[in-house]
Amino acid sequence: MFPLLFLFLSMVQISVQQCLPWTYNNPNKDWPKCWPTCDNTLHPLQSPVDIVNQVVDPLMGPAVFLFPDMDTVTLRHDDHTVSVVYPTGYTGGFSVNGMVYRLEEFHFHTPAENYLSILGEGEGQLDMEIHMVHKSYNSTNGTHTAILSLLWQKVDDYTHPWLNQILKNLSSISNQNQSLNIPLTDLSSLFNDQQKDFGYWTIEGSLTTPPCTGAVTWYIMQVPLKCSRAQWRQFHEFFSGGNGNGNARPVQRQILQARAFMPSKSTPPSLLIVGLVVSLVVVISVVLSGVALYWHSKKKGIDLARPTYERL
Ligand SMILES: [Zn+2]
Repeated sequence: MFPLLFLFLSMVQISVQQCLPWTYNNPNKDWPKCWPTCDNTLHPLQSPVDIVNQVVDPLMGPAVFLFPDMDTVTLRHDDHTVSVVYPTGYTGGFSVNGMVYRLEEFHFHTPAENYLSILGEGEGQLDMEIHMVHKSYNSTNGTHTAILSLLWQKVDDYTHPWLNQILKNLSSISNQNQSLNIPLTDLSSLFNDQQKDFGYWTIEGSLTTPPCTGAVTWYIMQVPLKCSRAQWRQFHEFFSGGNGNGNARPVQRQILQARAFMPSKSTPPSLLIVGLVVSLVVVISVVLSGVALYWHSKKKGIDLARPTYERL
């Protein structure tokens, strides 16, 4: 029994070793050969996704973010990205609907992996995405992974100061597996009031790199952050992924009704239009009723201005 098990485990190990290093050249075809969990026909809840439309879920509450500054985090050049790794015991993270998640690390993808068809034709591909990988802190059903996604858009007229803390150190970790300890401040500043106002989508999915492990809850912030084209280029050239196309796994599925949290103080434009139309219909009905009543009374010779008893 044990020799057979050992033989089987050795074969699996050899097989995975033959798959390394994996690349972004042909992920849909190559990854499932080595990691069956990456096969989206066998494991359909794969990420990244294309959000086509949404349904506001009244049971979802606001997310609260708190990321204390750190004197030392580890900036690391992994095989396929740059990660910022927090020390064990870091208490920063976010909470939502009674769940508390603590941040373990975050990393970058260019272009963005999750796609937003909901923004309209030609608008869905964002330029960069930060994945903030969290583990549940107070789950009663074992540890659970949650990824908080921040989408970024490159623009002409704005340079994001927070990104420079990382960009200025990239040259020190230009080789794979190099790392550097740096201080990192103001991570909470990425979650400003505007982000909170526009809410998030939450989706059950997977990791977007091998082994594409499932049971990951995603929280995708709805409002993209902005960075300069030069900042974006620095990241993109760093993550060329060997093919110049960056380090993004292709979209694995469409989400036709993504669960959305929309804060009550922020009324969606569609509801404003519905409210306006309903108000207009009510006003027109009242006016038409008044006119009809007037003509009806006139025809019958009733003076509406007089008290009823005088007309009897
Ligand atoms: Zn990622």
